[in-house]
Amino acid sequence: MKILVIGGGGREHALVWKLRQNTAAEKLWCAPGNGGIAAGAECAAVEAGDVAGLVALAGKIAPDLTVVGPELPLVNGLVDAFVERKWAVVGPDKKAAQLEGSKIFAKEFLQRHNIPTAEMYGAHDSAGAAYGALCAVDWPVVIKADGLCAGKGVFVAPNPDAATDFIERVMEKNELGDGGKRVMLEEALEGEELSFILLTDGERYAALAPTRDHKRVFDNSEGPNTGGMGAYSSDDLLPAQLRRTIKTTIVEPTMKGLAADGIRYQGFLYIGLMLTKEGPKVLEFNCRLGDPETQAILARLEFPLAAVLADVAAGRLQPDKLKWKAGASACVVLASGGYPGKFEVGKVIYGLTEAEKIADVKVLHAGTKRLGDNLVTSGGRVLGVTATGNTLGAALQRAYEGVGKIRFEGMHYRKDIGKLQQSSAAGN
Ligand code: AMP
Repeated sequence: MKILVIGGGGREHALVWKLRQNTAAEKLWCAPGNGGIAAGAECAAVEAGDVAGLVALAGKIAPDLTVVGPELPLVNGLVDAFVERKWAVVGPDKKAAQLEGSKIFAKEFLQRHNIPTAEMYGAHDSAGAAYGALCAVDWPVVIKADGLCAGKGVFVAPNPDAATDFIERVMEKNELGDGGKRVMLEEALEGEELSFILLTDGERYAALAPTRDHKRVFDNSEGPNTGGMGAYSSDDLLPAQLRRTIKTTIVEPTMKGLAADGIRYQGFLYIGLMLTKEGPKVLEFNCRLGDPETQAILARLEFPLAAVLADVAAGRLQPDKLKWKAGASACVVLASGGYPGKFEVGKVIYGLTEAEKIADVKVLHAGTKRLGDNLVTSGGRVLGVTATGNTLGAALQRAYEGVGKIRFEGMHYRKDIGKLQQSSAAGN
């Protein structure tokens, strides 16, 4: 099987790493890929959001299967273009990807199908209306830009001044672009977060190993939000009773709701949950795998990924084929100095070979590129040091041992990945 992976971050490196371990995968491409992916796949210089460019690339190389990593090509209709040409692809079409592409669409879907979620106070398409609505909400209030905003579109506002400032930046100064043309105000939930990801062919589904990520830049979940500073996976995250509750109150109504609305959702569906005192509630849907959750999840993979993804594309997923290594895994993200604010790139990275000599450690690249004989930084999140172990403690110990071998100027990372984080709204 010849496979094209779309994207160029740690998630796509994890996909390429596991697809390569599959004997069915004879040739891999990645567009655009990165410095680490280049060791496992042929990288093509086409950006992930460039639907026309990706269609042209696939037309030329004729892959047997395409796997889409990031949300942008999905929301832009890449899958529709592939399906029209009868090319096998894993990912939802444009309509289904609205579950991530529009927070208001997702909220209305959740309400229509009685799926537990935060109460929506209102949706507004002018700053004036949004300011006006602030007098009738409870504090803190959650403000969400409707469209894609690269992880910057959600703000838990502690008071009216902070809320007004965010609305002004998003709706009047257009700091988040078109994604901020409409906003939604909703109730702030308290509890621990859990990422629950499904793989579905539109009818059947299988749950991936449960994960939790760490969004804040500093230890103890302090500082600004990032794309994710680390993640871990352990079956302890999901006791049997909680798994049953999520299945009956969230997953099944979601699958039925999609069918009732005439949406055939195929691919990965990421359900971000808040485990509240009243039970799990949906915070968000993503129409793809999470990053860095994927790195932790795929580290525990014990099934032929290429074959299962080909089944999904063909509409014949066999859920019991998905098997997970017992124990746990962890991924610690190494970031550039200054990230998630301004950062410099082009710093030489040292110690990768030594880190990968440690048993059960894999270094997945997010923002790296080759420059002559060197590997240098090229993004905010640079590497994800990923490890497995019989217990979460063992996985973390290996991952941090790997981290200890690596250095580049300005490198920073969290030292508390895998520790329980209370993600209370007040803390946000
Ligand atoms: P989202 O992109 O909707 O998942 O939001 C990003 C992050 O904002 C989540 O992972 C939560 O930490 C936080 N968040 C989103 N919605 C809420 C909510 N209703 N209550 C509390 N925190 C939230």
